[in-house]
Amino acid sequence: MKLYKIKKSNIDRNGRGLYAAKDIKKGTRIIDYVGKIITKKQSDKSKKFDNLKPIYLFNLNKKYDLDGDVSFNTARLINHSCLNNCDYEGHGLKLWVVAIKDIKKEDELTCDYGFGYDSDYKQFPCKCGAINCVGYILREGSRWRINKKFKKTQRASR
Ligand SMILES: [Zn+2]
Repeated sequence: MKLYKIKKSNIDRNGRGLYAAKDIKKGTRIIDYVGKIITKKQSDKSKKFDNLKPIYLFNLNKKYDLDGDVSFNTARLINHSCLNNCDYEGHGLKLWVVAIKDIKKEDELTCDYGFGYDSDYKQFPCKCGAINCVGYILREGSRWRINKKFKKTQRASR
Protein backbone atom coordinates (compact mmCIF):
# COMPACT_ATOMS: atom_id res chain seq x y z
CA MET A 1 0.00 0.00 0.00
CA LYS A 2 1.24 3.44 -0.87
CA LEU A 3 1.91 5.77 2.05
CA TYR A 4 0.55 8.78 0.21
CA LYS A 5 -2.35 9.87 -1.92
CA ILE A 6 -2.94 12.81 -4.22
CA LYS A 7 -5.59 15.29 -3.13
CA LYS A 8 -6.54 18.88 -3.66
CA SER A 9 -4.23 20.86 -1.41
CA ASN A 10 -5.18 23.21 1.41
CA ILE A 11 -1.93 25.11 0.95
CA ASP A 12 -1.82 25.52 -2.80
CA ARG A 13 -5.42 26.36 -3.54
CA ASN A 14 -5.04 26.03 -7.28
CA GLY A 15 -3.23 22.81 -7.09
CA ARG A 16 -2.82 19.46 -5.59
CA GLY A 17 -0.73 18.04 -2.80
CA LEU A 18 0.25 14.74 -1.29
CA TYR A 19 -1.45 13.46 1.83
CA ALA A 20 -0.61 10.66 4.24
CA ALA A 21 -2.71 7.59 3.38
CA LYS A 22 -1.98 6.19 6.85
CA ASP A 23 0.00 7.05 9.97
CA ILE A 24 3.67 7.42 9.05
CA LYS A 25 6.53 7.09 11.55
CA LYS A 26 9.38 9.58 11.64
CA GLY A 27 12.27 8.39 9.47
CA THR A 28 10.09 6.54 6.95
CA ARG A 29 10.97 6.88 3.28
CA ILE A 30 7.69 7.92 1.67
CA ILE A 31 8.29 8.43 -2.03
CA ASP A 32 11.19 8.68 -4.48
CA TYR A 33 11.86 12.05 -6.05
CA VAL A 34 12.52 11.23 -9.68
CA GLY A 35 13.21 13.22 -12.82
CA LYS A 36 15.69 13.85 -15.56
CA ILE A 37 19.36 13.91 -14.67
CA ILE A 38 20.97 16.83 -16.45
CA THR A 39 24.46 18.27 -16.38
CA LYS A 40 25.17 21.59 -14.67
CA LYS A 41 25.97 22.98 -18.11
CA GLN A 42 22.44 22.13 -19.27
CA SER A 43 20.78 23.66 -16.22
CA ASP A 44 22.95 26.78 -16.47
CA LYS A 45 21.97 27.24 -20.10
CA SER A 46 18.30 26.39 -19.78
CA LYS A 47 15.89 29.32 -19.75
CA LYS A 48 13.49 27.20 -17.73
CA PHE A 49 15.64 27.68 -14.64
CA ASP A 50 16.51 31.28 -15.44
CA ASN A 51 13.15 32.93 -15.07
CA LEU A 52 11.82 30.88 -12.23
CA LYS A 53 13.59 29.82 -9.15
CA PRO A 54 14.62 26.22 -9.50
CA ILE A 55 11.63 24.84 -7.65
CA TYR A 56 12.14 21.38 -9.05
CA LEU A 57 15.87 21.53 -9.62
CA PHE A 58 18.10 19.62 -7.24
CA ASN A 59 21.83 19.73 -6.99
CA LEU A 60 23.04 16.10 -6.99
CA ASN A 61 26.78 16.65 -7.12
CA LYS A 62 29.40 18.81 -8.81
CA LYS A 63 28.43 17.59 -12.25
CA TYR A 64 24.75 16.76 -12.23
CA ASP A 65 21.40 18.27 -11.33
CA LEU A 66 18.03 16.57 -11.21
CA ASP A 67 15.11 18.23 -12.99
CA GLY A 68 12.00 17.00 -11.20
CA ASP A 69 9.58 19.00 -13.35
CA VAL A 70 8.26 15.94 -15.17
CA SER A 71 4.80 14.41 -15.06
CA PHE A 72 6.00 11.04 -13.75
CA ASN A 73 7.48 12.68 -10.65
CA THR A 74 4.57 12.50 -8.21
CA ALA A 75 6.77 13.90 -5.41
CA ARG A 76 6.79 17.27 -7.20
CA LEU A 77 3.24 17.79 -5.89
CA ILE A 78 4.49 18.11 -2.31
CA ASN A 79 4.00 21.69 -1.15
CA HIS A 80 6.32 23.87 0.88
CA SER A 81 5.51 24.64 4.50
CA CYS A 82 7.34 26.72 7.11
CA LEU A 83 6.54 23.84 9.48
CA ASN A 84 7.33 20.94 7.18
CA ASN A 85 6.86 17.32 8.23
CA CYS A 86 9.05 15.85 5.45
CA ASP A 87 12.41 16.56 3.94
CA TYR A 88 14.41 15.61 0.85
CA GLU A 89 17.23 13.13 1.27
CA GLY A 90 19.62 11.73 -1.25
CA HIS A 91 22.50 9.46 -1.95
CA GLY A 92 24.44 9.31 -5.19
CA LEU A 93 22.02 10.16 -7.98
CA LYS A 94 18.94 9.14 -6.01
CA LEU A 95 16.58 11.41 -4.11
CA TRP A 96 13.63 10.60 -1.92
CA VAL A 97 11.28 12.19 0.60
CA VAL A 98 11.53 11.15 4.25
CA ALA A 99 9.23 11.87 7.22
CA ILE A 100 11.01 14.09 9.76
CA LYS A 101 8.13 13.82 12.25
CA ASP A 102 5.44 11.27 13.03
CA ILE A 103 2.69 12.07 10.53
CA LYS A 104 -0.98 11.36 11.04
CA LYS A 105 -3.20 9.82 8.40
CA GLU A 106 -4.82 12.58 6.27
CA ASP A 107 -2.13 15.18 7.09
CA GLU A 108 -0.69 16.97 4.09
CA LEU A 109 2.95 16.09 3.38
CA THR A 110 5.16 19.18 3.25
CA CYS A 111 8.83 19.96 2.64
CA ASP A 112 11.13 22.94 2.99
CA TYR A 113 11.86 24.02 -0.59
CA GLY A 114 15.13 25.47 0.59
CA PHE A 115 15.03 28.75 -1.31
CA GLY A 116 17.77 31.15 -0.36
CA TYR A 117 17.10 34.77 0.47
CA ASP A 118 17.50 37.18 -2.42
CA SER A 119 15.74 40.19 -3.90
CA ASP A 120 13.17 37.98 -5.64
CA TYR A 121 11.78 36.34 -2.56
CA LYS A 122 8.46 38.22 -2.83
CA GLN A 123 7.66 36.28 -6.01
CA PHE A 124 6.90 33.25 -3.89
CA PRO A 125 4.36 33.92 -1.16
CA CYS A 126 3.80 31.09 1.31
CA LYS A 127 0.27 30.20 2.33
CA CYS A 128 1.09 27.25 4.54
CA GLY A 129 -0.81 28.68 7.51
CA ALA A 130 1.68 27.43 10.12
CA ILE A 131 2.09 29.54 13.30
CA ASN A 132 5.66 30.30 12.32
CA CYS A 133 4.87 31.13 8.66
CA VAL A 134 7.01 34.02 7.43
CA GLY A 135 4.76 34.68 4.43
CA TYR A 136 7.28 33.68 1.78
CA ILE A 137 8.82 30.44 0.62
CA LEU A 138 12.27 30.53 2.14
CA ARG A 139 14.53 27.94 3.63
CA GLU A 140 14.56 27.74 7.39
CA GLY A 141 18.06 29.20 7.73
CA SER A 142 17.08 32.35 5.80
CA ARG A 143 13.80 33.19 7.47
CA TRP A 144 15.30 35.35 10.23
CA ARG A 145 16.01 37.94 7.54
CA ILE A 146 12.31 38.26 6.84
CA ASN A 147 11.39 38.22 10.51
CA LYS A 148 13.79 41.08 11.06
CA LYS A 149 12.11 42.98 8.23
CA PHE A 150 8.66 42.29 9.65
CA LYS A 151 9.75 43.69 13.00
CA LYS A 152 11.14 46.81 11.36
CA THR A 153 7.93 47.45 9.44
CA GLN A 154 5.88 46.97 12.59
CA ARG A 155 8.01 49.49 14.44
CA ALA A 156 7.75 51.98 11.57
CA SER A 157 3.97 51.76 11.42
CA ARG A 158 3.50 52.40 15.13
ZN1 LIG B 1 4.65 29.38 5.38
